[in-house]
Amino acid sequence: MTAGLRTESRPFNRVGMKRIGITTTVPSEFIFAAGLAPVDLNNIFVTDINSSGFIELAETEGLPRASCGWIKGMYGAARAGMVDAIVAVSDGDCSHTRTLLEIIQSEGMPLIPFAYPYDRDHSLLRKQMEKLAAWVGVSMEDAEKWMNRLDSIRSKLWEIDRLTWEENRVTGFENHLLLVNGSDMEGDPDRFEEKCGRFLEEARQRPALPQQLRLAFIGVPPIIGDLYEFIETLNARVVFNEVQRQFTLPFRSDDIVERYLLYTYPYDVFSRIRDIKEEIAKRDIHGVIHYVQSFCHRQMEDVMFRKHLGNIPFLTVEGDAPQKLDARTKLRLESFCEMLSLKISALGRPGC
Ligand code: SF4
Repeated sequence: MTAGLRTESRPFNRVGMKRIGITTTVPSEFIFAAGLAPVDLNNIFVTDINSSGFIELAETEGLPRASCGWIKGMYGAARAGMVDAIVAVSDGDCSHTRTLLEIIQSEGMPLIPFAYPYDRDHSLLRKQMEKLAAWVGVSMEDAEKWMNRLDSIRSKLWEIDRLTWEENRVTGFENHLLLVNGSDMEGDPDRFEEKCGRFLEEARQRPALPQQLRLAFIGVPPIIGDLYEFIETLNARVVFNEVQRQFTLPFRSDDIVERYLLYTYPYDVFSRIRDIKEEIAKRDIHGVIHYVQSFCHRQMEDVMFRKHLGNIPFLTVEGDAPQKLDARTKLRLESFCEMLSLKISALGRPGC
């Protein structure tokens, strides 16, 4: 399962650690600068062929059945010895993660504290970065050099995103899978960059995809495996993955602190709404799917999105465990896409 990682040749840092677990996007520049490999525990969990086993392990160890599947999966991944320490994001990720990390710490896992200031205070975020830099033994300048290195990879991810919505050559799932890995670059930037480069070469040669309906996918990345695939059987395609795109830090700045202040996900919902509205208009989107995770506090954001995204057709889809789509959700997706098709026909509006 750690096929994406090549940590063997990486030097040990001053405390002898190699793989640093992350539970959300953090300034990975500091981790790479220290010769360590960030490992997104979400990705480890959800791409494992035995992802259900991680959840079973978490429940066996006492995590409530009525808790978020991602939390249980990350616990399982951490317990399976995938990482040597974890960056604990106390503000800007999720309250469930905070408790999860306290449980993991009580079992002996070192935690590296980090917090996104809710009010986007530049000096507070800089202070957090300086503490992170000191913890892993690098300077702010080292991290800034790595920001430039990672930007060459991010620029490939941005191009993959552009090919998704502007040229219609990339599926919603491919977009999701590559952009979501922007959080940790699969632990190996050189290898991941090559992978993105090969993908781009191939995708540029493809004919445009045929689906007519253009959808936005907002909310946390889905735990359901076949969601995108099913959507594409309905003459529809996801041309905007909101959070996955944010993991590529799409807003440019030469200042690493500013860069992570522009990243919308850890802060208030209003900047996310602004970003989503802009992308809906730019990408000529017909409808929005808001994915919510069972037992996730972010489900409440649904109220805000429905209220502030205007009159665009909106469907909320809930997932629980890493399984295939259930019949009820399939039916709801089918009805949603059918309604969108009728609406487009009635308006005489062309699709993509
Ligand atoms: S889905 Fe929600 S509760 Fe689960 S880890 Fe993500 S933010 Fe936290």
